[in-house]
Amino acid sequence: MNFKRILTVFVLCATVISFAACTTQTETTETEPVTDTETEAAATETETETETETETETEPVDTTPETVYAGMDSGIVRDGTPKKYFCLCFDDATQQDLKIIETCKKYNYYDVTFFISTGLYGVDWSSAVGVPHVRFTKKEVESGIYDGFDLAVHTLNHLPLDQYQNNVKKVANEIEKDAKNIYKLTGIYPVVMAWPGGDPNVTRELMKIAYENTSIRLGRGTKSTHNFKLPTEFLWLEPTAEISEATLFSDFQKFLDAECTEDMLFFCWGHGYELDIYHSYDKLDKFIKMVTEAEGIELVTVSEFYQLFKDEIPAVILDEQ
Ligand SMILES: [Zn+2]
Repeated sequence: MNFKRILTVFVLCATVISFAACTTQTETTETEPVTDTETEAAATETETETETETETETEPVDTTPETVYAGMDSGIVRDGTPKKYFCLCFDDATQQDLKIIETCKKYNYYDVTFFISTGLYGVDWSSAVGVPHVRFTKKEVESGIYDGFDLAVHTLNHLPLDQYQNNVKKVANEIEKDAKNIYKLTGIYPVVMAWPGGDPNVTRELMKIAYENTSIRLGRGTKSTHNFKLPTEFLWLEPTAEISEATLFSDFQKFLDAECTEDMLFFCWGHGYELDIYHSYDKLDKFIKMVTEAEGIELVTVSEFYQLFKDEIPAVILDEQ
């Protein structure tokens, strides 16, 4: 894998996003207010700007003191000893996740996060991507495909949030409706998300809107850092590496070899459909084998990582511009 191929993935992502935006615009011409049904939720894209927008109109965060939040049960104790943490996650909930899950189960590895857009069940973007890109249907997800894994927010309709021009209601609903759908599905309230469309579509204003109006406290970006530093703001977490990068194994070996004088993080992300693009299922198997056999690292879901560090790392630094 070289830089050009990675670039191809991001170009494909952009293509998919454009396609999604296009599809939504052509298929949704109503101006209905937001409702709880998924089909009507997609119509929020065409709501007029004359609508009254106040914070009280956003989808309420639907939790109680008894609500179970994701990532609370890592079993890891922060005892002052520096540790190496490892996260792995995949976006979009396409059918390739079945193969990923099969591989994870082969190594009894469940500390993996899957980011899902619950407004796009069953949607097929294959023609835009060039390889199969078919999202699971609601029925398929309800059948328990992701049981035992961490299911988290990728927003309801996967549209770049900057296109809402900081409309608090629309941005918050895209995030919180997805969170509520996942909660209804799993009984566990999500606390983390992957920003749809990646870094170019994330702004500090969006981070602030997410923080002030939703239950989500961590947002993952897409630019590899190739370092092992913890994020300084959870709503702007840049990953260490992407699953298809040529440097994946060497980066991971560096992580294993590094002296651990402070807490460290190796954060790997990707998409299932990339495995079809690059014919890299064997590479995934090899990587997961290496990860699960490694000594001296803590395997955590993205939600668990958030819960372990939530008292030290702010979701967003509100004063910073
Ligand atoms: Zn995505």
